[in-house]
Amino acid sequence: MLPNVSEYYKPATMQEALRLLRRRGVPTVPLAGGTHLLTRRDPGVQALVDLSGLGLNYIRQGADNLEIGAMTTLQSLATSPVLTDVAGGLLATAAHCTATRTIRNMATIGGSVVSSGPATDIVVALLVLDASIRTATGKRFRLHDYLQNGRLQRQRHVFVEVQVPLTTVTWRSAFCRVARLPSDEAIVNVAVALRYENGLCQDVHLAAGGVGTVPVRLPVAEGLLLGTPLTQADIERAISLQQNTVEPLSDIHGSAEYRRAMLAVLLRRAVQQCVDGRQG
Ligand SMILES: Cc1cc2nc3c(=O)[nH]c(=O)nc-3n(C[C@H](O)[C@H](O)[C@H](O)COP(=O)(O)OP(=O)(O)OC[C@H]3O[C@@H](n4cnc5c(N)ncnc54)[C@H](O)[C@@H]3O)c2cc1C
Repeated sequence: MLPNVSEYYKPATMQEALRLLRRRGVPTVPLAGGTHLLTRRDPGVQALVDLSGLGLNYIRQGADNLEIGAMTTLQSLATSPVLTDVAGGLLATAAHCTATRTIRNMATIGGSVVSSGPATDIVVALLVLDASIRTATGKRFRLHDYLQNGRLQRQRHVFVEVQVPLTTVTWRSAFCRVARLPSDEAIVNVAVALRYENGLCQDVHLAAGGVGTVPVRLPVAEGLLLGTPLTQADIERAISLQQNTVEPLSDIHGSAEYRRAMLAVLLRRAVQQCVDGRQG
């Protein structure tokens, strides 16, 4: 719990939320599902602004993007009929793999992005769909850039929406993870989204968690798979060269060597799943 919180607000407009969050002298943070925030025990936080009254819980199709409100829970993503057809259900699968239903009922997509750990499942999936995040003041960042840019993170934007370009929603996909127990946080996880036409891999996005401080794209393997027929040899070459470029940390959940080995296992499995389901 947060030991020094003495103020709680649930504004009905974003204007009011921003006013509260920008006050000087009272350290104030947004509250989404609270599953990360309330376990941090941060003594510096004095006030909470609950975002649940702002109408940010939705999943809808816009002109160019699939639009997901920042307060949409992971359980809503896991069961959404809209997401069943998005990249073969990738977002629904990644959401379903996260924690337990009790946690998924509270945890939101916005909170997951802002508090992303090394292997946050939904963030790994969003990376391969080339998602962007939109702020309350109308700014838009590619999720990949946000995760890699500490300065952007320190600016403490309030996010209102995650956007997934409609160009990637028709791609094939797979999501694989390894954890001590299925409901535990992943030690390593991998997402693949690719487009296979005319006997060749026309587009491919790969991402992994648990091999760095935040989830990352895997550009070496992407470059090596692009334009190939995705034979076993193509896949093995891409995996072995990518494997040597990551610098995982060792911790009580797994050594760097274990994580590197699991990256290869999961990538092989995920790409193969896409290949087995391919048409064209
Ligand atoms: C027991 C347990 C098991 C878990 N297992 C997994 C797992 O298997 N896989 C996995 O990926 N994750 C797992 N998690 C992590 C979980 O997914 C995150 O705690 C959750 O996604 C955070 O979302 P939230 O809505 O609860 O965020 P909150 O806790 O409300 O907020 C998190 C941070 O984001 C900020 N914030 C929230 N919303 C916004 C916004 N719209 N704009 C700007 N800032 C915002 C808050 O101020 C805070 O700093 C687990 C967590 C727990 C407690």
